[in-house]
Amino acid sequence: MNQIFQFKGIRIHHAAIDMRQFDDPVATIRDWHVNGRGWSDIGYHALVHPETGEIFPGRTWDRTGAHDLHENDCFGICLMANYSEELPNAVALGSGAMLCALVSQLVGNPLEIQGHREWDPVSGVDATDCPGLNFDMDEFRALCAGYAEKYKFLR
Ligand SMILES: [Zn+2]
Repeated sequence: MNQIFQFKGIRIHHAAIDMRQFDDPVATIRDWHVNGRGWSDIGYHALVHPETGEIFPGRTWDRTGAHDLHENDCFGICLMANYSEELPNAVALGSGAMLCALVSQLVGNPLEIQGHREWDPVSGVDATDCPGLNFDMDEFRALCAGYAEKYKFLR
């Protein structure tokens, strides 16, 4: 069995497009990343369905990501919606936050969680609003911490 990569943090993205319009959102993103960009697999390690909260595997968890040039040693999560155009619902937020708590537990450290725009500020060269203007990273981190506390992760 492959070992999980020692991720230095967790990075949150949105798809910047509502993936619910596709029959198979994960296969669509895989096609964009593999055939469109020439990557070996989906750039993210996991993807969250914006309606059902289902968590889908992306690339395998024993290797680095391809979600950002400077942050690829982090675990990449993509919520498959456009959160500059809609509000994230409680189900998707809860799934994403629980996933963060579980990944921290697997790696064995309380990993730093950041949204894409927090390291690529809107004023910078790689400007982005990812994971969307309506996605509150502080609220999300509080959710993650709540799960870690409630379920005694990393104790
Ligand atoms: Zn992003």
